[in-house]
Amino acid sequence: IACEKAEPTESESSPEPSLELEEEGAESGPIHIGFSMDTLEEERWLKDRELFKKEVEELGAKIDIMVANEDVAKQIAQVETLIHNGVDVLVIVPYNTEPAAAIVEKAHLAGIKVISYDRLIKNANVDLYVSFDNEMVGELQAKAITSLVPTGKYVYIGGAITDNNANLIKKGVFKVLQPYIQNGDITVVYDQWTEDWNPDNAYKNMLAALEANHNKIDAVIAANDSTAEGAIRALREKGLAGKIPVAGQDADLTAVQRIVQGEQAMTVYKPISSLAKETADLALKLADGETIKTNRKINNGKIEVPSILLSPIEVNKDNIDDTIIADGFHSREDVYGE
Ligand code: BGC
Repeated sequence: IACEKAEPTESESSPEPSLELEEEGAESGPIHIGFSMDTLEEERWLKDRELFKKEVEELGAKIDIMVANEDVAKQIAQVETLIHNGVDVLVIVPYNTEPAAAIVEKAHLAGIKVISYDRLIKNANVDLYVSFDNEMVGELQAKAITSLVPTGKYVYIGGAITDNNANLIKKGVFKVLQPYIQNGDITVVYDQWTEDWNPDNAYKNMLAALEANHNKIDAVIAANDSTAEGAIRALREKGLAGKIPVAGQDADLTAVQRIVQGEQAMTVYKPISSLAKETADLALKLADGETIKTNRKINNGKIEVPSILLSPIEVNKDNIDDTIIADGFHSREDVYGE
């Protein structure tokens, strides 16, 4: 089981209102969380923003959210602002995993603990990492597609190389594909990263893959639903959409609709509400100076980061109702249009 959580200890979430007069300069008021996001491009991040804010506020803390729009310098500057504003804990979705290490250093110099949210910051003394098991995301994708197409020519449309998750997902995919590749059943005829996870870049990559192989492709694994969208756009142009299974990730509404329509074979659903809730609880505990116990540690190139990885869930046309609709992630009406 990939979902290993810290022992759930009830936290005293809302700080006791202080009746004494605060000394000048002393901290007062509710715990203050800074949330530094990379992007709102993919649908999921809108859910992360909304749900994380809701969880933090329900625990009686306040939150400042900033979005860097895929800009390293901007993310660093925004974090400096959050630090200046006196946040107690920083929760970061890094745009670029390596330069984000500078952010952790700045926060630590100011005595602020850092949680790496969804994406791991490499080579830094990250205090906590909360995410889904991204290697498992790739494994679920490849297992689903190999069971549909056990032999043939595969295209791999990766995520952004600057995102550690893209690397983990790819690792999971190739772990499953390896035996098929070894015995000659599957050939990966195209394998590219997608700059910034941008669907237009994925579209161009998919066109290049089709052209190089005279449209003779048997399966596509795309690292998320926006890259799957780009790949399917290219397949559609060649009259191949729905004929070749495509895997994605995130359970974006449009992806789930493509699954219903038969253009996409599967997606990987990650219950964002669990990630948001878990992180909000832990952020407040860190702010209270509690030590967080986790069962898992992940090496980020510098330290073994205490980590919590939630389990991703495979979604195909047969279990849409029991997963994302049952959870209220999307409504039946939105998915089926009725
Ligand atoms: C996330 C995915 C998302 C991608 C692009 C990854 O780090 O885990 O859910 O689709 O970034 O934003």
